[in-house]
Amino acid sequence: MKANCWMGRNTVQVREVPDPAILNSRDAIVRVTSTAICGSDLHLYGGHVPTMKKGDILGHEFMGEVVEVGPKVSTLKIGDRVVVPFPIACGNCFACEHGLYSVCENSNPNAGLAEKLMGHTPSGIFGYSHMLGGYPGGQAEYARVPFADVGPIKIEDDLPDEKVLFLSDILPTGWMGAEMCDIKPGDIIAVWGAGPVGQFAVASAYLMGAERVICIDRFPSRLRIAERAGAEPLNYEEADVLDALLDMTAGRGPDACIDAVGMEAHHPTTAMYAYDRVKQATRLETERPHALREAIMACRNGGIVSVIGAYGGLVDKFPMGSLMNRSLTLRGGQCHVQRYLKPLLGKIRDGDIDPSFVITHRMRLQDAPRGYEMFKNKQDDCNKVVLTP
Ligand code: NAD
Ligand code: ZN
Ligand code: ZN
Repeated sequence: MKANCWMGRNTVQVREVPDPAILNSRDAIVRVTSTAICGSDLHLYGGHVPTMKKGDILGHEFMGEVVEVGPKVSTLKIGDRVVVPFPIACGNCFACEHGLYSVCENSNPNAGLAEKLMGHTPSGIFGYSHMLGGYPGGQAEYARVPFADVGPIKIEDDLPDEKVLFLSDILPTGWMGAEMCDIKPGDIIAVWGAGPVGQFAVASAYLMGAERVICIDRFPSRLRIAERAGAEPLNYEEADVLDALLDMTAGRGPDACIDAVGMEAHHPTTAMYAYDRVKQATRLETERPHALREAIMACRNGGIVSVIGAYGGLVDKFPMGSLMNRSLTLRGGQCHVQRYLKPLLGKIRDGDIDPSFVITHRMRLQDAPRGYEMFKNKQDDCNKVVLTP
């Protein structure tokens, strides 16, 4: 089959690779009908996530048709249409039983690698480095889905792929980012990053009853999409973010701040950005946490900082004094996607949200290298790329 493979920093290639096969009794094989490129893939593309190997199949946002099931998968049958959540979770361990699917204790065969960096291991993730399991991803014609009796959600009505594909990751991720803010009526929420994840965080915050949502980015086209979801745009190249947020919140700061940017934050005008770039390039810190620092500094006293932007390792110049002295709560996580599949599918079906509003580019799987380049550099106002094998 054909699959999009990581070939080194800033290089992906669609190559001929062996078809996946059932390895365990709870596996299924899915013929991929739609798959997407995520901001998280850009961290791999840019070479910021350790333990990638040349030839690794990328992709963790995918859906398709079940073509084969292992003997212990009684919930799916051949021909079922499914969306597959990006964290791989067993459904039986302590974490899964508590709904914490993205920290499943049984799905990362390379747990030891992750434990060295993080103390404990999170779950395995499709197409996301050997430290997170070394699982082949879904930017391919076929994918092997472990624990297929737990993860995939069946799509039994005629909703098109584009409306349900993002259940695999970015819609529940934006939702969880807003949920971690404990939104109460009257709350003002600020979201760093007007990428697809930030845009879904904006939409979710409103669905949860936020009064106002401010979205921060520098790309006008992305801020416009966030505006269509109700956000008040704040362009960080045109204003000082901390000053502007104080002005917009009567001097108090947002009730909660969502970091939907992660480890590759951009901010060329500050000395700190140059410092982070050098330290990241020389591997002295793994992240460029500008948005996270700003989210902490901006948040009102006693507020919540919700981190859904991805981080891999160590952060430098972390404003711990601000966090501690001002009674802030810091939350974060890879999304526990399995928890949100049914309720969010219900909202899509009821017309409360149509996630396809984030898509700007549709391409064939063969064009993945062009898709990565466009998405990385935001060429042609690229916001979200969907690939069809
Ligand atoms: P994206 O790259 O499309 O969007 C990121 C946006 O952040 C861009 O528009 C960029 O201009 C903006 N940005 C950069 N620096 C900024 C700054 N200093 N202030 C404000 N905005 C800034 O990515 P995406 O697909 O929207 O994903 C966003 C983040 O969420 C990534 O880090 C991704 O890895 C992460 N993610 C996490 C989960 C999870 O489960 N927690 C799931 C999916 C994605
Ligand atoms: Zn993703
Ligand atoms: Zn588990």
